[in-house]
Amino acid sequence: MKKPPYRGRFAPSPTGPLHFGSLVAALGSYLEARTQWGQWLVRIEDVDATRCRPEYEAAILRTLDSFGFRYDHRVMRQSERAGAYQKALNRLFHEAPIFACACTRKEIGDSRVGSDGAPIYPGTCRVQMPEGKEARAWRIRVNDHVFAFEDAIQGHIEQNLATEVGDFVLLRADGMFAYQLAVIVDDAEQEITHVVRGADLIDSTPRQIYLQERLGVPTPQYAHLPVAVGFSGEKLSKQTLAVPLEDDKPVPALWQAMHFLGQQPPEDLRKASVSEFWEWAMHHWTLDKVPKIRSIIIE
Ligand code: GLU
Repeated sequence: MKKPPYRGRFAPSPTGPLHFGSLVAALGSYLEARTQWGQWLVRIEDVDATRCRPEYEAAILRTLDSFGFRYDHRVMRQSERAGAYQKALNRLFHEAPIFACACTRKEIGDSRVGSDGAPIYPGTCRVQMPEGKEARAWRIRVNDHVFAFEDAIQGHIEQNLATEVGDFVLLRADGMFAYQLAVIVDDAEQEITHVVRGADLIDSTPRQIYLQERLGVPTPQYAHLPVAVGFSGEKLSKQTLAVPLEDDKPVPALWQAMHFLGQQPPEDLRKASVSEFWEWAMHHWTLDKVPKIRSIIIE
């Protein structure tokens, strides 16, 4: 059978301008796609309207452009896709055990913490909401079952959704669709075959595979890149004000990101032009050289 063509993507959330951490994800996903003659799509993940700003979206696209990234198709925006998420949720109502949940964040807050640091839902409304309470969010029930997948960088990954995550939210109390639902609906719609992203999302992947199976959409191949962390282990996120990339100095940052991903760029490439950088990168990128660890400390 003919292999489906490669389709990768970069899916930044416009909660701030691009910084080194997001550049690593953009670069890894881009080079892996392009060196396989694949397409590379950009999706703006602004499903959480409370945290996203249009000016950051514009800044992200501007930076990608000045750094020499070229994307295929038009940019998809999650803020324009509520209809698609609602349709998926309606389908899940028929295919999966979804239930209304009245619990507040505070009520769940005391539960044991799961693998991604969030409290595991204690199952309060699983069978029925307590008398007199009103539905706030909608959750999907998970089973005591180990989900496994082969990550192209991190190797064999296993997670028991029941003991490590718990029943998770699909529609939030504030009426917004959850990232876990939006991301798999969009990956399916954009026919993404390969997801290359930061390892901070590796604990989300079994939830996404579970939803893909319930909705009957294909599961892409996953590759989780190491993420850049500070000395005390905190992620260099836009929220912790990691320094924004400078649009007029693309090559030093691209060089650093290439080095971070284990690709051994030569010293003199630091002073190259953007097109010389890409030429070198396209000839030398090897996924096998990416360190097989989840995080790397950078000063
Ligand atoms: N929007 C997510 C972020 O900016 C990435 C989600 C994904 O790649 O699946 O961290």
